[in-house]
Amino acid sequence: MADLGIGIVGAAGRMGMALARAVSEAEGCRIVAATERSGHASLGADIGSLAGLDALGVAVTDATSSLFAAVDAVLDFTAPQATAAHGVFASENGTILVTGTTGLEQNQQAAIETAARSVAVVQAPNFSVGVNVALALVEQTARLLDEDYDIEVVEMHHRHKVDAPSGTALGLGHAAAKGRGVSLDTVAERGRDGITGARERGTIGFASLRGGDIVGEHNVVFAGPAERVEITHRAGGREIFARGAVRAALWAADKPAGLYSMADVLGFNG
Ligand code: NAD
Repeated sequence: MADLGIGIVGAAGRMGMALARAVSEAEGCRIVAATERSGHASLGADIGSLAGLDALGVAVTDATSSLFAAVDAVLDFTAPQATAAHGVFASENGTILVTGTTGLEQNQQAAIETAARSVAVVQAPNFSVGVNVALALVEQTARLLDEDYDIEVVEMHHRHKVDAPSGTALGLGHAAAKGRGVSLDTVAERGRDGITGARERGTIGFASLRGGDIVGEHNVVFAGPAERVEITHRAGGREIFARGAVRAALWAADKPAGLYSMADVLGFNG
């Protein structure tokens, strides 16, 4: 079977470069095209050289429409507005879309869901295998422990991260809420400052730390009477997300239109 043709949007970004390395290492796929936003200093550069590899003969352009027309699957870790636009390009061109961009507003998320009616879309707040195991454990733990155990999600990321809490922290919150049989929207406590009053029973709290070059750390605390259960994931490098995204694209190659998660890709959903 021919290799899956991959397009990388946001090619000069931290994840874009990790994706280029991951596609080059993987069997069954190859980079066919790459984009960056208009005016970016990396336009015209070879994506292999940008990512610290040998040149791959694929220049970075800002021609999004041509990229979607030329490839089988697009890997998108960019920015919310760009990702919503990429959803439209994917459905117009019948292209698989694998997207990890976080911080999408409701209307931007709606654009992704619309695309998923005509093409296979894999969307995950975190593409690492370990975090997806943590998500399953958090849901299960929240199911087993009652509201005597206060749930707090603490995350820390590098100083350049623009959204908070992280998409993964929110994913962990959703998993905990699901385990408790409630909706996260009704129990989330996303910011404390000043005289907040005592903690409300049943809420799920979030705290975000930013600094240095930390790729991503997440800790879900179940703080009960005289004991505490904690589920922690520490990312050692961006390659864990990039490898997961490539795996998702290969998995999606023969899937019908739909919105899939990393749990689907890993077979955690049965
Ligand atoms: P980054 O800022 O280093 O890279 C984003 C790149 O996208 C930039 O180079 C930017 O110029 C480019 N871009 C923006 N608009 C574009 C457009 N219209 N067309 C083409 N390129 C465009 O950020 P990053 O650290 O690589 O993270 C990117 C996104 O991925 C963030 O939302 C981050 O939270 C998310 N992320 C998700 C996971 C996951 O597993 N789901 C893991 C890491 C990061």
